[in-house]
Amino acid sequence: MQTTTVMQSRPVPRARRRTRANSTVSVVGAGMAGLVAAYELERLGFRVEVIEGSRRLGGRVHTHRFGAAEGAPFVELGAMRIPTGHHRTMHYVEHLGLADQVRPFTTLLSEENAFLATSTGHVRLRDAPRALIADVRASLPGAPYREETVVFGAWLAAVVDAVAPPGLRTGLRADLARNLLDLVEEVDLSPHLLGHAKDRIDVHGLFAAHPGIRAGCGDRLNSFLDDILTETSPELVRLACGMDQLAQRLAARIRGPIWLGQRVSGFEVAPDHVLVRLGGGPSPAVRRCDYVLCTVPFSVLRSLTLTGFDDDKLAVVREVDYCPATKVAVHVREPFWEREGIRGGASFSGGRIRQTYYPPSEAEGTTDPSLGAALLASYTIGEDAEHLGAMPPAQRHRTVVEELGRMHPQLLRRGMVRGVASLAWGGHPWTAGGCTIRWGQDAAACEEQRRRAVRPQHRMFFAGEHCASEPAWIEGAVESALEAVTLIARHAPGRGVVEPAGLEAA
Ligand SMILES: Cc1cc2nc3c(=O)[nH]c(=O)nc-3n(C[C@H](O)[C@H](O)[C@H](O)COP(=O)(O)OP(=O)(O)OC[C@H]3O[C@@H](n4cnc5c(N)ncnc54)[C@H](O)[C@@H]3O)c2cc1C
Repeated sequence: MQTTTVMQSRPVPRARRRTRANSTVSVVGAGMAGLVAAYELERLGFRVEVIEGSRRLGGRVHTHRFGAAEGAPFVELGAMRIPTGHHRTMHYVEHLGLADQVRPFTTLLSEENAFLATSTGHVRLRDAPRALIADVRASLPGAPYREETVVFGAWLAAVVDAVAPPGLRTGLRADLARNLLDLVEEVDLSPHLLGHAKDRIDVHGLFAAHPGIRAGCGDRLNSFLDDILTETSPELVRLACGMDQLAQRLAARIRGPIWLGQRVSGFEVAPDHVLVRLGGGPSPAVRRCDYVLCTVPFSVLRSLTLTGFDDDKLAVVREVDYCPATKVAVHVREPFWEREGIRGGASFSGGRIRQTYYPPSEAEGTTDPSLGAALLASYTIGEDAEHLGAMPPAQRHRTVVEELGRMHPQLLRRGMVRGVASLAWGGHPWTAGGCTIRWGQDAAACEEQRRRAVRPQHRMFFAGEHCASEPAWIEGAVESALEAVTLIARHAPGRGVVEPAGLEAA
């Protein structure tokens, strides 16, 4: 596995005087947006430095390893899968020599032996159709729908219940009753029904073939539907070596310094420079920079001292909305779920823990069984994530283990749990949110907010998933980085307009 040498928490030295043609771009934030941008800027001939507040690379790409041993089990506490249609991200996977690490990512509702929470308790996915259909029928008493229409309602409800936060789950029930099922009733569903009993349906294929039925979803659900469908699509991959290798390999290719442990506390923009304040207290260090590319999430940026910004920029920094996310992972003595026939994929566990992801069972590398196994016990977003995130870690960990133990009693056996790790992104100092959401806004309003988020302030440019048309994905971080690189290249005097290599590939 490749690592990189980065400068740990030494004071950032003064920038040397440079000619304009040799302008240095100070990239703030070493998440995917910052690292991609720094790498591409260097390829265009800029000098770069990366200033990162935390002591690690990757930001919301965060692979947690249970131990330092070779082959130690790991979980992804941040991004864990890449939709194969995310061409920019897949471009960097290949470009960074990680193509041989790409494996299918088995997601929710695809492992037959995984569990699904229904009103009658946890059932195996293979036995779920009857319970799901009964649940939807019970919520629509007397409604005269065809069996296949109810099958659609049952599986859409299962997908939304598994992925969406509480508000959207209740909204879907209302949409089904109001007009979504009426629209679906008019459609020939037979090409999309699955299984010999025709009690399953390809929800993705149906929405793709009949986009008009989305009109039956309320505005908030409609704007989250793409993410819901993407997250449960079969077209997802993961990196067998851990997603953190994306960040490590990018950093290893960046020649300029990457300063860790350097918290930026403020920015002051002027026509020909940007002052970056480092550290807190009454007399923070001030660094005069030629150009700054800020990839700090707006949820954090809004709490920094911002001087010289125009009113609209300050407004959009305040306005961008974030959805919290919390992940809790358990290090166990052995992969007990394999004895129950679960070979990977995920359970919709419901309750407070919502989603549980099992690592794939195929042997990867020289995994030593004595090192145990890792389970992503709980993945929550929205209010569910806030609730778990607000608990002190010890209570959060106990809550998740106890609740998961009701679905998997083996977890509660003496000596099974070796350790628990979690990350509540909503309260995380470097993120203060999970990911950007633009739910309930139409396409024009989303684009307008994105445009305002990207708009530079003199020599200060902006990138990060919050500046992208596809927020909440690595793809968005990369998209925004490539756009910022293009803007900086256009602005820097004496340089021709050049497109970064990754942009051509996108
Ligand atoms: C729980 C979770 C699951 C996800 N799952 C997926 C997935 O499966 N697939 C996918 O593609 N995407 C997923 N995402 C989204 C993806 O992780 C993000 O969109 C992407 O990583 C964001 O990159 P970024 O560079 O914009 O921001 P970040 O990664 O947040 O980078 C910003 C950097 O700025 C630093 N910083 C913050 N404040 C300061 C400061 N004051 N001074 C200096 N530095 C500072 C931070 O430490 C951080 O390193 C997930 C996100 C979360 C939270």
